[in-house]
Amino acid sequence: RVAASLIKQHLASVRFGGDSAAPWTPHFDVVVIGGGHAGTEAAAAAARCGSRTLLLTHRVDTIGQMSCNPSFGGIGKGHLMREVDALDGLCSRICDQSGIHYKVLNRRKGPAVWGLRAQIDRKLYKQNMQKEILNTPLLTVQEGAVEDLILTEPEPEHTGKYRVSGVVLADGSTVFAESVVLTTGTFLRGMIVIGLEMHPAGRLGDQPSIGLAQTLEKLGFVVGRLKTGTPPRIAKESVNFSILNKQTPDNPSIPFSFINQTVWIKPEDQLPCYLTHTNPQVDEIVLENLHLNCHVKETTRGPRYCPSIESKVLRFPNRVHQVWLEPEGMDSDLIYPQGLSVTLPAELQEKMITCIRGLENAKMIQPLLSRQRYGVQYDYMDPRQISPSLETRLVQRLFFAGQINGTTGYEEAAAQGVIAGINASLRVRHKPPFVISRTEGYIGVLIDDLTTLGTNEPYRMFTSRAEFRLSLRPDNADSRLTFRGYKEAGCVSQQRYERASWMKSSLEEGISMLKSIEFLSTKWKNLIPESSISSGKSLPLRALDVLKYEEVDMELLARAVPEPLKKYTQCRELAERLKIEATYESVLFHQQQEIKEVQRDEALQLPKDLDYLTLKDISLSYEVREKLHLSRPQTIGAASRIPGVTAAAIVNLLRFVKTTQ
Ligand code: FAD
Repeated sequence: RVAASLIKQHLASVRFGGDSAAPWTPHFDVVVIGGGHAGTEAAAAAARCGSRTLLLTHRVDTIGQMSCNPSFGGIGKGHLMREVDALDGLCSRICDQSGIHYKVLNRRKGPAVWGLRAQIDRKLYKQNMQKEILNTPLLTVQEGAVEDLILTEPEPEHTGKYRVSGVVLADGSTVFAESVVLTTGTFLRGMIVIGLEMHPAGRLGDQPSIGLAQTLEKLGFVVGRLKTGTPPRIAKESVNFSILNKQTPDNPSIPFSFINQTVWIKPEDQLPCYLTHTNPQVDEIVLENLHLNCHVKETTRGPRYCPSIESKVLRFPNRVHQVWLEPEGMDSDLIYPQGLSVTLPAELQEKMITCIRGLENAKMIQPLLSRQRYGVQYDYMDPRQISPSLETRLVQRLFFAGQINGTTGYEEAAAQGVIAGINASLRVRHKPPFVISRTEGYIGVLIDDLTTLGTNEPYRMFTSRAEFRLSLRPDNADSRLTFRGYKEAGCVSQQRYERASWMKSSLEEGISMLKSIEFLSTKWKNLIPESSISSGKSLPLRALDVLKYEEVDMELLARAVPEPLKKYTQCRELAERLKIEATYESVLFHQQQEIKEVQRDEALQLPKDLDYLTLKDISLSYEVREKLHLSRPQTIGAASRIPGVTAAAIVNLLRFVKTTQ
């Protein structure tokens, strides 16, 4: 009775729908709050799944706005983009219409960890995204600030104290919905910081979201506080590029989207980036002025992997840090100095910048004109309060996606957005949730990390977080996710499904063809290194094995055996994917065996007295030892879920424990 009365009191303090609703109140299947990177993906995904969807956001003209760096992708983030694209999401396609400098990062390593990245024209991205969103069938876009949620009694067959059934806007109007997706980014009780000045705002020039933050807290959500920041922008004409290292784009450009063979702009017309570095003078200015900087003084956590210059100077004293000077757009006069996010008072920012090589005469653009160079602190919801479908455990049919869950980055937001949109729509149709596991995709890794481990600092994706990264590659995201998206969620277009099906069957056919072509190694002698042909003894080698050599690609192989291999070189993507499949064939076979081994022994108990830091006769990196030491997992399964503990380390640990038992 006490519990029932508490629930009643709680419900009385929040808004309800029901009889008070006017008959003309709009009613949608899915309402998405927030038109940022998570919100646009969520709204478009719900609409693609066939739900009548409303996107409610402060301003339509900020849809597609990049709050910080005008770039997409990178290590781990590029993987997320390919997976969003495999589910027919928007950001990869829009990037391919707006990119101005394409570069694959991590090229020296294997293709499993390549990071597709592009510098993007900020204005063009916004335009293209708005065009896409405003023309999506079944999707209505409306400006408005959501202040409150409308709640009803929960459905007894589901967990959750309440059920959401609509939203209340700042002007008091209401909209009813079967599911609601909340993607409010840094806006919940957002507070902008420049030097010692602080004022409420979601982003510079945008209002914060206070009412909604209070509603969520009142409902009982556990709320935390995080911070992030962005650098000043510099006038392009004031930079002395001639003395800096120039980075040219890749030729050819690798598109982000599976449905594109090329991007909108030729490599030779793309813009270069430049590299410079900080120096001891920068450190001096930062350290002498810490007392003038409340963003740094705050104990709130900022992004570890994209820290402010103040955090870098404090954490790594006497080190030189890279500063990439990147164009903001094809016709833009602004340069984005990546690595110089700062919240010092404005005059000190200028002093700091002008002591960097190439920036001696740099002119900073006014923050309000460029909307930049500030820090922001905001509320986020502890993501352990959501399930793997991104539905909250407390409020049925309410989904959270994006920075509200403690992540940072456009790609992390987009990845959650697409999953929340799909699941909000499936929920309306009483269909089972669409969940991606850690073995299926980086999206699975991201959501599993958030929902099981939570986060106390802005979470970003890295390849090292994925245990099965050899199989979760950027090249094969379509074969992992497109078919599921098409069949289970209905979020994938017929055209994309057919393209993925064609690619899948062409790959299967190509691989079996390459396995069937077998010659003595002497026949391949112009292709493979001399040392591979053992003296006097020529071994039969499959074409697939020859393709594994670094020096060999499909073009070379098809020159040696034009029939039947020539046809596999007609499509660049197919030829490259065959090469990648060949490269990973045997490694993947071993990995599959290891996955099975770990799955079989997931429940194996780890001895309580293991001293991971000093353990001998086992190969574990110091980082892994430290993580095991701090987390003290009870089972092999729990150890495998610790971020940064690699699959190889788990296999070694498993074998070690089994032999010592
Ligand atoms: P956002 O893109 O912020 O979108 C939120 C949307 O919700 C906005 O359109 C807003 O108008 C709308 N909204 C909010 N409340 C309401 C409401 N009550 N009613 C209606 N609409 C509402 N990421 C990095 O990876 N590296 C960085 O260095 C980095 N620096 C950043 C610096 C700054 C200053 C900021 C603000 C962000 C930075 N980010 C950075 C983060 C990156 O921009 C976000 O992770 C990403 O944009 C989050 O997407 P989102 O959709 O969750 O939120």
